[in-house]
Amino acid sequence: MATSPRMEILLNFTQEKGLQYAQSKQLVSTQKICDCGHSMCIRPSAAFKLDTVCWRCTMCGTRMSVRKGTFFEKSKLHIHTILQIMFDFVSQTPVTTSANFSGVSTGVAIQWFEYCRDICTSKLLKDKKKLGGTGHIVEVDESLLFKRKNNVGRVSRQEWVIGFYDRTAKLGFLRQIPDRTAVTLEAAILENVEPGSTIFTDEWRSYSRLTSLGYQHGTVNHSEHFVDPVTGVCTNSIEGYWSRIKRKVKHVSGSVGNMKWSHVDEAMYREAYGMKTDTAIRNFNLFLTHVTEKYPV
Ligand SMILES: [Zn+2]
Repeated sequence: MATSPRMEILLNFTQEKGLQYAQSKQLVSTQKICDCGHSMCIRPSAAFKLDTVCWRCTMCGTRMSVRKGTFFEKSKLHIHTILQIMFDFVSQTPVTTSANFSGVSTGVAIQWFEYCRDICTSKLLKDKKKLGGTGHIVEVDESLLFKRKNNVGRVSRQEWVIGFYDRTAKLGFLRQIPDRTAVTLEAAILENVEPGSTIFTDEWRSYSRLTSLGYQHGTVNHSEHFVDPVTGVCTNSIEGYWSRIKRKVKHVSGSVGNMKWSHVDEAMYREAYGMKTDTAIRNFNLFLTHVTEKYPV
């Protein structure tokens, strides 16, 4: 009987195959050199109860966890269980469902979803670069992304966010800003947009000095759409980007009150690396390569 791609993956998430699969994806090393200079082998070990195997030096007998230095190092879960949760995270399974499927508490699954978000954040930081450049149109817009309750749970604090969208390269991202004074907005633009770019903003007065900072500046009334000077086409890419991110964040957070910035990172990550819902297997494999970038073995 034919096996579905999903089933093929799930079959690897068993006690017998979990480690092997993790090795095949370079999440766990396939070879190791002992401090004494000799090679180590993976051998059965009663002392390493969780994995039932460990690295063992062929010369001096030194033993070491197969998880040392890996994404799995700090956990007491089986590797195959963690892989299941990672797959659930990438395929946007609700965290409570993931906990249920993999037989862990909701708290543990929540923790692992956060570790997965750390991977998203790290990858975004690693690939971070300015948008725009000569000939590029970058739309810039600031907005209140969410209101966060303080510890007491009563007073809401405003969280300003500035959004950038390079219409030419079709790339965007959001950055947190403390306020929307001219100094703050200009600093954010200088940090995130290449000089020489054409920047479209709304008519907010804080953007009035952009020309003197080395940009070409066009403004629009907020109710209108940006008009592309070449094609004459009206678009408003930044608003489309905002709404896609907000929709993803809402999906993850459940409600705005539960939202954390790591949820925004996750949403930006999914957008930036093309993680569409109909490419789950490809998404998972891509995510695993990003894990190996943070935890090279
Ligand atoms: Zn040794």
